Amino acid sequence: MTAAPLDTSFPKLELHMHLEGAAPPAFIAGLAREKSIDISGIFDGHGNYRFRDFDDFLKVYEAACTTLQSPEDFYRLTLAVLEQSAKHGVIYTESFISPDFCGGADLVAWRAYLAAIEEAADEAERRFGIMMKGIVTCVRHFGADQAKKAAHCAAETAGNFVVGFGMGGAETMGRTADFAYSFDMAREAGLHLTSHAGEWGGAEMVRETLHHLKVSRLGHGFQCIDDPDVLQEVIEKGIVLELCPGSNVALNAVPSWETHPIEKLRAAGAKITVSSDDPPFFLSDMTYEFTQLAKVFGWGETQFAQVQDIAVQAAFCDEDTRATLAKRIAA
Ligand SMILES: [Zn+2]
Repeated sequence: MTAAPLDTSFPKLELHMHLEGAAPPAFIAGLAREKSIDISGIFDGHGNYRFRDFDDFLKVYEAACTTLQSPEDFYRLTLAVLEQSAKHGVIYTESFISPDFCGGADLVAWRAYLAAIEEAADEAERRFGIMMKGIVTCVRHFGADQAKKAAHCAAETAGNFVVGFGMGGAETMGRTADFAYSFDMAREAGLHLTSHAGEWGGAEMVRETLHHLKVSRLGHGFQCIDDPDVLQEVIEKGIVLELCPGSNVALNAVPSWETHPIEKLRAAGAKITVSSDDPPFFLSDMTYEFTQLAKVFGWGETQFAQVQDIAVQAAFCDEDTRATLAKRIAA
Protein backbone atom coordinates (compact mmCIF):
# COMPACT_ATOMS: atom_id res chain seq x y z
CA MET A 1 0.00 0.00 0.00
CA THR A 2 1.27 3.45 -0.88
CA ALA A 3 -0.33 5.23 2.07
CA ALA A 4 -1.51 4.26 5.54
CA PRO A 5 -5.30 4.27 6.08
CA LEU A 6 -5.26 7.47 8.14
CA ASP A 7 -3.27 9.47 5.58
CA THR A 8 -5.37 11.86 3.57
CA SER A 9 -3.82 10.32 0.46
CA PHE A 10 -5.03 6.77 1.30
CA PRO A 11 -7.19 5.90 -1.74
CA LYS A 12 -10.83 5.73 -0.67
CA LEU A 13 -14.22 4.94 -2.17
CA GLU A 14 -17.31 6.75 -0.98
CA LEU A 15 -20.77 5.42 -1.82
CA HIS A 16 -23.01 7.79 0.17
CA MET A 17 -22.61 11.52 -0.29
CA HIS A 18 -25.23 14.12 -1.15
CA LEU A 19 -23.97 16.60 -3.73
CA GLU A 20 -25.75 19.63 -2.26
CA GLY A 21 -25.05 18.33 1.26
CA ALA A 22 -21.35 18.40 0.51
CA ALA A 23 -21.44 22.07 -0.55
CA PRO A 24 -18.75 23.98 1.35
CA PRO A 25 -20.55 26.67 3.43
CA ALA A 26 -18.28 29.38 2.05
CA PHE A 27 -19.33 28.37 -1.48
CA ILE A 28 -23.04 28.59 -0.59
CA ALA A 29 -22.50 31.91 1.24
CA GLY A 30 -20.72 33.23 -1.88
CA LEU A 31 -23.58 32.21 -4.16
CA ALA A 32 -26.07 33.81 -1.74
CA ARG A 33 -24.12 37.08 -1.91
CA GLU A 34 -23.97 36.98 -5.72
CA LYS A 35 -27.72 36.49 -5.91
CA SER A 36 -28.65 38.75 -2.96
CA ILE A 37 -30.37 35.88 -1.14
CA ASP A 38 -30.47 36.30 2.63
CA ILE A 39 -29.71 32.94 4.23
CA SER A 40 -27.36 34.32 6.88
CA GLY A 41 -29.44 32.54 9.56
CA ILE A 42 -28.19 29.12 8.47
CA PHE A 43 -24.58 29.90 9.39
CA ASP A 44 -22.93 30.19 12.80
CA GLY A 45 -20.29 32.73 13.83
CA HIS A 46 -17.55 30.61 12.26
CA GLY A 47 -19.29 30.38 8.90
CA ASN A 48 -20.35 26.77 9.42
CA TYR A 49 -23.89 25.48 8.91
CA ARG A 50 -26.02 25.76 12.05
CA PHE A 51 -28.95 23.46 12.94
CA ARG A 52 -30.54 22.00 16.07
CA ASP A 53 -31.76 18.54 15.09
CA PHE A 54 -32.61 16.41 12.07
CA ASP A 55 -35.77 18.37 11.11
CA ASP A 56 -33.88 21.64 11.39
CA PHE A 57 -31.00 20.13 9.41
CA LEU A 58 -33.41 19.38 6.55
CA LYS A 59 -34.66 23.00 6.65
CA VAL A 60 -31.13 24.43 6.61
CA TYR A 61 -30.21 22.02 3.81
CA GLU A 62 -33.16 23.18 1.72
CA ALA A 63 -32.39 26.84 2.46
CA ALA A 64 -28.80 26.30 1.24
CA CYS A 65 -30.21 24.71 -1.91
CA THR A 66 -32.18 27.86 -2.76
CA THR A 67 -28.87 29.45 -3.85
CA LEU A 68 -28.35 26.70 -6.44
CA GLN A 69 -30.50 27.99 -9.26
CA SER A 70 -28.90 27.06 -12.58
CA PRO A 71 -26.87 24.37 -14.33
CA GLU A 72 -23.86 26.71 -14.06
CA ASP A 73 -24.29 26.78 -10.25
CA PHE A 74 -24.29 22.98 -10.21
CA TYR A 75 -21.22 22.90 -12.43
CA ARG A 76 -19.37 25.04 -9.87
CA LEU A 77 -20.81 23.05 -6.95
CA THR A 78 -19.75 19.70 -8.41
CA LEU A 79 -16.22 20.90 -9.08
CA ALA A 80 -15.90 22.37 -5.56
CA VAL A 81 -17.23 19.21 -3.91
CA LEU A 82 -15.07 16.81 -5.90
CA GLU A 83 -11.95 18.90 -5.28
CA GLN A 84 -12.67 18.62 -1.52
CA SER A 85 -13.27 14.86 -1.71
CA ALA A 86 -10.07 14.31 -3.72
CA LYS A 87 -8.10 16.12 -1.00
CA HIS A 88 -9.11 13.27 1.30
CA GLY A 89 -7.98 10.56 -1.07
CA VAL A 90 -11.40 9.77 -2.51
CA ILE A 91 -10.81 8.19 -5.95
CA TYR A 92 -14.42 7.21 -6.58
CA THR A 93 -17.60 8.75 -5.28
CA GLU A 94 -21.26 7.95 -5.81
CA SER A 95 -23.11 11.15 -5.20
CA PHE A 96 -26.83 11.61 -4.66
CA ILE A 97 -28.20 14.11 -7.14
CA SER A 98 -31.74 15.32 -6.84
CA PRO A 99 -33.96 16.46 -9.74
CA ASP A 100 -36.10 18.28 -7.15
CA PHE A 101 -33.22 20.69 -6.51
CA CYS A 102 -32.36 20.85 -10.22
CA GLY A 103 -35.30 22.55 -11.92
CA GLY A 104 -38.15 21.07 -9.87
CA ALA A 105 -37.96 17.53 -11.31
CA ASP A 106 -38.85 18.72 -14.80
CA LEU A 107 -37.21 16.38 -17.34
CA VAL A 108 -36.05 19.07 -19.79
CA ALA A 109 -34.53 21.14 -16.98
CA TRP A 110 -33.03 18.01 -15.41
CA ARG A 111 -31.18 17.12 -18.60
CA ALA A 112 -29.53 20.57 -18.64
CA TYR A 113 -28.52 20.36 -14.97
CA LEU A 114 -27.26 16.81 -15.38
CA ALA A 115 -25.15 17.79 -18.41
CA ALA A 116 -23.48 20.50 -16.31
CA ILE A 117 -22.85 18.08 -13.42
CA GLU A 118 -21.37 15.52 -15.79
CA GLU A 119 -19.16 18.12 -17.45
CA ALA A 120 -17.83 19.16 -14.04
CA ALA A 121 -17.29 15.51 -13.09
CA ASP A 122 -15.20 15.00 -16.25
CA GLU A 123 -13.21 18.12 -15.44
CA ALA A 124 -12.65 16.93 -11.84
CA GLU A 125 -11.49 13.52 -13.05
CA ARG A 126 -8.91 15.19 -15.29
CA ARG A 127 -7.74 17.67 -12.66
CA PHE A 128 -8.06 15.79 -9.36
CA GLY A 129 -8.10 12.10 -10.34
CA ILE A 130 -11.51 11.43 -8.79
CA MET A 131 -14.31 9.61 -10.59
CA MET A 132 -17.96 10.39 -9.86
CA LYS A 133 -21.14 8.47 -10.64
CA GLY A 134 -24.64 9.76 -9.95
CA ILE A 135 -27.47 8.22 -7.96
CA VAL A 136 -30.65 10.11 -8.77
CA THR A 137 -32.55 10.64 -5.56
CA CYS A 138 -36.14 11.39 -4.66
CA VAL A 139 -36.95 13.18 -1.41
CA ARG A 140 -39.30 11.15 0.78
CA HIS A 141 -40.99 14.06 2.53
CA PHE A 142 -41.88 15.65 -0.83
CA GLY A 143 -44.30 12.73 -1.29
CA ALA A 144 -44.78 9.74 -3.60
CA ASP A 145 -46.10 11.72 -6.59
CA GLN A 146 -43.05 13.96 -6.63
CA ALA A 147 -40.88 10.85 -6.27
CA LYS A 148 -42.36 9.50 -9.50
CA LYS A 149 -41.14 12.61 -11.31
CA ALA A 150 -37.62 12.07 -9.94
CA ALA A 151 -37.77 8.39 -10.92
CA HIS A 152 -38.87 9.39 -14.42
CA CYS A 153 -35.88 11.75 -14.67
CA ALA A 154 -33.64 8.90 -13.47
CA ALA A 155 -35.06 6.36 -15.91
CA GLU A 156 -34.76 8.74 -18.88
CA THR A 157 -31.13 9.57 -18.14
CA ALA A 158 -29.85 6.17 -16.96
CA GLY A 159 -26.49 5.30 -18.45
CA ASN A 160 -22.79 5.51 -17.88
CA PHE A 161 -23.05 8.40 -15.40
CA VAL A 162 -26.47 7.93 -13.80
CA VAL A 163 -26.11 4.42 -12.40
CA GLY A 164 -28.56 4.31 -9.53
CA PHE A 165 -31.78 5.53 -7.97
CA GLY A 166 -32.36 6.21 -4.31
CA MET A 167 -34.43 7.98 -1.70
CA GLY A 168 -33.39 10.47 0.99
CA GLY A 169 -35.29 12.91 3.19
CA ALA A 170 -37.39 12.30 6.28
CA GLU A 171 -37.54 8.54 6.68
CA THR A 172 -40.47 8.47 9.08
CA MET A 173 -42.82 10.38 6.75
CA GLY A 174 -45.16 8.64 4.32
CA ARG A 175 -45.69 4.94 3.64
CA THR A 176 -42.74 3.04 2.18
CA ALA A 177 -45.02 1.00 -0.10
CA ASP A 178 -46.16 4.21 -1.82
CA PHE A 179 -42.67 4.62 -3.27
CA ALA A 180 -42.52 1.12 -4.79
CA TYR A 181 -43.80 2.41 -8.14
CA SER A 182 -40.84 4.79 -8.44
CA PHE A 183 -38.32 2.12 -7.51
CA ASP A 184 -39.90 -0.33 -9.98
CA MET A 185 -39.62 2.28 -12.74
CA ALA A 186 -35.95 2.85 -11.95
CA ARG A 187 -35.21 -0.90 -11.76
CA GLU A 188 -36.83 -1.47 -15.14
CA ALA A 189 -34.55 1.22 -16.57
CA GLY A 190 -31.56 -0.84 -15.42
CA LEU A 191 -30.66 1.31 -12.42
CA HIS A 192 -29.24 -0.06 -9.16
CA LEU A 193 -31.23 0.80 -6.04
CA THR A 194 -30.55 2.16 -2.57
CA SER A 195 -32.68 3.93 0.01
CA HIS A 196 -32.16 5.69 3.30
CA ALA A 197 -33.71 3.45 5.97
CA GLY A 198 -32.87 2.37 9.48
CA GLU A 199 -31.36 5.70 10.50
CA TRP A 200 -34.52 6.97 12.24
CA GLY A 201 -37.29 4.47 11.41
CA GLY A 202 -35.96 1.44 13.30
CA ALA A 203 -35.35 -2.12 12.19
CA GLU A 204 -38.94 -2.34 10.95
CA MET A 205 -38.21 0.36 8.37
CA VAL A 206 -35.28 -1.71 7.12
CA ARG A 207 -37.57 -4.72 6.73
CA GLU A 208 -40.24 -2.65 4.91
CA THR A 209 -37.69 -1.07 2.61
CA LEU A 210 -36.19 -4.41 1.59
CA HIS A 211 -39.66 -5.84 1.04
CA HIS A 212 -41.27 -2.99 -0.89
CA LEU A 213 -38.37 -1.25 -2.62
CA LYS A 214 -36.09 -4.28 -3.21
CA VAL A 215 -32.89 -2.31 -2.82
CA SER A 216 -29.42 -3.87 -2.78
CA ARG A 217 -27.97 -1.18 -0.50
CA LEU A 218 -29.30 0.83 2.42
CA GLY A 219 -28.39 4.39 3.36
CA HIS A 220 -27.35 3.96 7.01
CA GLY A 221 -29.47 0.90 7.86
CA PHE A 222 -27.63 0.44 11.14
CA GLN A 223 -30.85 0.05 13.16
CA CYS A 224 -31.20 -3.44 11.67
CA ILE A 225 -29.05 -4.42 14.63
CA ASP A 226 -32.02 -3.89 16.96
CA ASP A 227 -33.90 -6.89 15.54
CA PRO A 228 -32.03 -10.20 15.15
CA ASP A 229 -34.36 -11.34 12.34
CA VAL A 230 -33.84 -8.17 10.33
CA LEU A 231 -30.09 -8.31 10.88
CA GLN A 232 -30.13 -11.90 9.69
CA GLU A 233 -32.05 -10.89 6.57
CA VAL A 234 -29.55 -8.09 5.83
CA ILE A 235 -26.64 -10.51 6.19
CA GLU A 236 -28.22 -13.37 4.25
CA LYS A 237 -29.26 -11.16 1.34
CA GLY A 238 -25.83 -9.50 1.27
CA ILE A 239 -27.41 -6.05 1.62
CA VAL A 240 -24.69 -3.41 1.72
CA LEU A 241 -24.92 -0.78 4.47
CA GLU A 242 -23.74 2.71 3.56
CA LEU A 243 -22.69 3.67 7.08
CA CYS A 244 -21.91 7.29 7.92
CA PRO A 245 -21.03 7.25 11.62
CA GLY A 246 -19.95 10.91 11.85
CA SER A 247 -23.34 11.96 10.47
CA ASN A 248 -25.20 9.73 12.93
CA VAL A 249 -23.30 11.19 15.89
CA ALA A 250 -23.72 14.80 14.68
CA LEU A 251 -27.49 14.35 14.24
CA ASN A 252 -27.91 12.36 17.47
CA ALA A 253 -29.15 9.26 15.67
CA VAL A 254 -26.71 7.56 18.05
CA PRO A 255 -25.52 9.10 21.33
CA SER A 256 -21.78 8.87 20.60
CA TRP A 257 -19.07 7.34 18.43
CA GLU A 258 -18.51 4.73 21.14
CA THR A 259 -22.12 3.53 20.94
CA HIS A 260 -22.28 3.38 17.13
CA PRO A 261 -22.93 -0.24 16.08
CA ILE A 262 -20.55 -0.15 13.08
CA GLU A 263 -18.03 -2.56 14.61
CA LYS A 264 -20.75 -4.91 15.88
CA LEU A 265 -22.26 -4.99 12.38
CA ARG A 266 -18.87 -5.70 10.83
CA ALA A 267 -18.14 -8.46 13.34
CA ALA A 268 -21.60 -9.97 12.72
CA GLY A 269 -20.79 -10.32 9.02
CA ALA A 270 -22.85 -7.47 7.59
CA LYS A 271 -21.44 -5.84 4.46
CA ILE A 272 -20.49 -2.39 5.68
CA THR A 273 -18.97 0.61 3.94
CA VAL A 274 -17.95 4.04 5.26
CA SER A 275 -19.06 7.42 3.91
CA SER A 276 -19.36 11.03 5.05
CA ASP A 277 -23.00 11.80 3.97
CA ASP A 278 -23.11 15.64 4.13
CA PRO A 279 -19.56 16.31 5.34
CA PRO A 280 -19.48 20.10 5.97
CA PHE A 281 -22.80 19.96 7.85
CA PHE A 282 -21.26 17.46 10.27
CA LEU A 283 -17.75 18.98 10.32
CA SER A 284 -16.59 15.69 8.85
CA ASP A 285 -14.66 14.32 5.89
CA MET A 286 -13.41 10.86 4.93
CA THR A 287 -10.09 11.30 6.74
CA TYR A 288 -11.98 12.20 9.92
CA GLU A 289 -14.31 9.17 9.60
CA PHE A 290 -11.33 6.83 9.17
CA THR A 291 -9.39 8.48 12.01
CA GLN A 292 -12.33 8.11 14.40
CA LEU A 293 -12.81 4.44 13.45
CA ALA A 294 -9.15 3.78 14.24
CA LYS A 295 -9.31 5.71 17.49
CA VAL A 296 -12.65 4.47 18.83
CA PHE A 297 -12.75 0.89 17.50
CA GLY A 298 -9.07 0.17 16.94
CA TRP A 299 -9.48 -0.34 13.21
CA GLY A 300 -6.27 -1.00 11.30
CA GLU A 301 -5.25 -1.95 7.78
CA THR A 302 -7.31 -5.17 7.85
CA GLN A 303 -10.62 -3.48 8.65
CA PHE A 304 -10.05 -0.56 6.27
CA ALA A 305 -9.04 -2.94 3.45
CA GLN A 306 -12.19 -4.94 4.16
CA VAL A 307 -14.58 -1.98 3.89
CA GLN A 308 -12.80 -0.75 0.77
CA ASP A 309 -13.15 -4.17 -0.88
CA ILE A 310 -16.84 -4.26 -0.03
CA ALA A 311 -17.25 -0.77 -1.51
CA VAL A 312 -15.57 -1.86 -4.76
CA GLN A 313 -17.91 -4.83 -5.02
CA ALA A 314 -20.99 -2.79 -4.08
CA ALA A 315 -20.31 0.19 -6.35
CA PHE A 316 -23.04 0.71 -8.94
CA CYS A 317 -20.47 1.19 -11.74
CA ASP A 318 -19.76 -0.97 -14.78
CA GLU A 319 -17.37 -3.93 -14.52
CA ASP A 320 -14.44 -2.21 -16.28
CA THR A 321 -14.57 0.64 -13.76
CA ARG A 322 -14.81 -1.88 -10.92
CA ALA A 323 -11.67 -3.66 -12.13
CA THR A 324 -9.83 -0.31 -12.36
CA LEU A 325 -10.92 0.63 -8.83
CA ALA A 326 -9.83 -2.74 -7.45
CA LYS A 327 -6.38 -2.19 -8.93
CA ARG A 328 -6.12 1.35 -7.60
CA ILE A 329 -6.93 0.44 -4.00
CA ALA A 330 -4.58 -2.56 -4.12
CA ALA A 331 -1.66 -0.55 -5.55
ZN1 LIG B 1 -27.64 10.47 3.41
